[in-house]
Amino acid sequence: MSDVPTTPDELLEALERDGIDHLWVTYLDVAGKPSAKTIPRSGFRSAVRSGVVFAKANFDLDTRDHMAESATLQADSGDMMAVPDPRSYTVLPRYPGTARVYTWLRNPDGSPWLGCPRTRLQEQVDALAAEGYSLQAALEPEFYLLTKDEFGNYHPVDGVRSFGEAGLAVQHEFLQEVVDELTEMGVTVAQIGKEFGPGQYEISVRHGSPFEAIDDYGPVKDVIRYAARELGYVATFMPKVFAEWVGCSLHLHLSLWDTAGDHDLTPNANDQETLSDPGRWFMGGLLKHVAALTALGSPTVNSYKRLLPGSWAPANTYWGYGNRSGIVRIPGPGGRRHLEFRSGDNTCQAALFLTGVLAAGLDGLRNKIDPGPPFEGDVGHMTAEEIANASFGFLPRSLPEALAALEADEVVTAALGPVTLEHMLIVRRSELESYNLTVHPWERETYLEVV
Ligand code: GLU
Ligand code: MG
Repeated sequence: MSDVPTTPDELLEALERDGIDHLWVTYLDVAGKPSAKTIPRSGFRSAVRSGVVFAKANFDLDTRDHMAESATLQADSGDMMAVPDPRSYTVLPRYPGTARVYTWLRNPDGSPWLGCPRTRLQEQVDALAAEGYSLQAALEPEFYLLTKDEFGNYHPVDGVRSFGEAGLAVQHEFLQEVVDELTEMGVTVAQIGKEFGPGQYEISVRHGSPFEAIDDYGPVKDVIRYAARELGYVATFMPKVFAEWVGCSLHLHLSLWDTAGDHDLTPNANDQETLSDPGRWFMGGLLKHVAALTALGSPTVNSYKRLLPGSWAPANTYWGYGNRSGIVRIPGPGGRRHLEFRSGDNTCQAALFLTGVLAAGLDGLRNKIDPGPPFEGDVGHMTAEEIANASFGFLPRSLPEALAALEADEVVTAALGPVTLEHMLIVRRSELESYNLTVHPWERETYLEVV
């Protein structure tokens, strides 16, 4: 869009043009949690040019708001400046006179802070451009609509299951609100569908640059949450809410273009079926680094209750055309061919996940990594013997396994840089420790009156 500001001056003009009185200056930490301050008009110039101060120590707060025991950013670690990226400017129709910008994190002297997820992503975007390519991406979240009863238990909002049209009819008020509000915010909704589980939906938005993809993702989650709350529902993006129902994915739709973004280089130009060599190599890189990418895309204990064979969530490292059981699916015929990377979920830090994906894909391009032949079949419906004889590998089965694989992956850790990596590990291990030390209801149900 031509009226998207790209410079600080253009951002200031846009704030004036849109009659904005309150600017939310937001950054996403290593766990993907948005933190913000609101700035009144009188502070716009300084906020846009120099940024807004936050404590670096915020980066070692886990999702429960507990300072991680192994935190290295303590009360004495000083400040970071959240400096607006003008391209991310969005008016928030829900809050009159209010707009939001996402930010780069810098040191107080203005130099880039190595802990800044957006800067890590920019570095990989630039590295891909140096190889003659650009990435187009779209993030496709699934979510459940729930009600909460008087005992604090959650239930699917209705019984509509498996892709039913009735799901659109029953929730039309909610769905229209989501589409209308996102459209007003400049997010192009491609489609919303009823997903497999009761009360489960998924939303697709138009693909764009990696930054457009992550900057659309925040509004998508916000609008879905707020629109649900207005109707008395709870919207959840949690990877596995109900053990008996399918989980919620965050599929990444990826395609490789020339640097100008004019030509899609992912499909094979000479046939309708296969991928181009760069498309295959990029996928080869994803498969090679899949264990580390699993840590980035699936960074919570709950993530590993979703990644199970036979659930359409991947547990294995094969790819296929139209195969929904593997880690990469190639949807669509001909020019619609692209890569759908399927293991991630909505607990990820989207900028860091894409940073890892780009680094892995780049490794594939540079080293012409062959992804091997496509796989036909579903591991969820294979016998133990067939699985033992198959050539595919397994995704990490648990969070500790995935985090260890991430630490061991030189390509992906180099792309993350030492600071985002360190704090991502500190935060996720802090949550893991808390989970491990909790006595869960299952343990009481199983052992309390029996042993
Ligand atoms: N709900 C499935 C998952 O958690 C994905 C279903 C689909 O293919 O869209 O991965
Ligand atoms: Mg889906």
